[in-house]
Amino acid sequence: MSDRFAERLLCWYDRHGRKSLPWHEDRTPYRVWVSEIMLQQTQVATVIPYYHAFMARFPSVEALAEAPVDDVLSHWSGLGYYARARNLQKAAQQVVENHKGKFPQVQEQLEALPGIGRSTAAAILAQAFQIHATILDGNVKRVLARYHAVPGWPGQTRVLNQLWACAEQHTPHERIRDYTQAIMDLGAMVCTRSRPDCAGCPLNQGCQAYARGEMSQYPASKPKKAKPEKTTWMVILEDSNGRILLQKRPPSGIWGGLWSLPELDPAYGPDELAEACQQHLGLDCHEATPISGFRHTFSHYHLHIQPASLSVRGATSIADDDSHRWVYRDEAMTLGLPAPIRTLLGNPEQPALL
Ligand code: SF4
Repeated sequence: MSDRFAERLLCWYDRHGRKSLPWHEDRTPYRVWVSEIMLQQTQVATVIPYYHAFMARFPSVEALAEAPVDDVLSHWSGLGYYARARNLQKAAQQVVENHKGKFPQVQEQLEALPGIGRSTAAAILAQAFQIHATILDGNVKRVLARYHAVPGWPGQTRVLNQLWACAEQHTPHERIRDYTQAIMDLGAMVCTRSRPDCAGCPLNQGCQAYARGEMSQYPASKPKKAKPEKTTWMVILEDSNGRILLQKRPPSGIWGGLWSLPELDPAYGPDELAEACQQHLGLDCHEATPISGFRHTFSHYHLHIQPASLSVRGATSIADDDSHRWVYRDEAMTLGLPAPIRTLLGNPEQPALL
């Protein structure tokens, strides 16, 4: 054994591990491989009926290789991620054509087949051929990130390399098939994402996350990208009758098809807004009065909205049409307005609380 980690895990597996899943019977490389691909994004319970139906229709790598692709896809229907099914068939064709229908027993040659990555190749080697190979699927990453308190998100190469090194360190030379199943089972049954059963875990003695009570901090989640910040002036233009100018947004994009306020480039200073209104809208306005600004968050960016109010001198040059309307405030409330604009027009003296 490489260390007590594997020994403890195997003892636990002997008592609690899953030993009668459909792909545990008659562990040919073909049957192991199909199960590994199905399990990549899907829970065991969902996979089982699909696996039985798939094996009944495509009992061998040759049967899969020569089947019509629509037939393969229809047997995948409901499992999602259909690239997996297409790659499965392409890989079956390559096994038949390039390897005489026999799966290679070399990690690099398995990884050269479509849809087979480092961990899947290792799972096939360990489970079908009982060859020493190290897996690192999502469940295993979680167990090892916690056991060794590996900081960082496993999507980062540095973190992933560290986890691979931990995984290799623990992989034993004996009972490789059972160990591979055991560590996957521990991740699925004990060291679960949200409620790990640390008291019942065979690894709790050496687990650093458990020792610190920090199980939920490992593995770290994907870092959220900082959203870009944008700024705009939104002008409340009021004519001599107390009506406000609304503009219709383009049909697609942010606030598509809703009525909103005219916007001006944030590069204008407050004392330049009247002139900007003349230039861009052809409206003769009194000096602008800025109102408290606020920030609105869209899915892809934050928008700092800086409102300003201006009264229009004399008659306006903009008539009502499909994209412009002069409305009283209460009338505006009956139109399709974005929430921040509705708040702003409903209470223009207060910063909009959004
Ligand atoms: S002790 Fe808890 S956190 Fe550590 S490996 Fe076991 S279940 Fe996971």
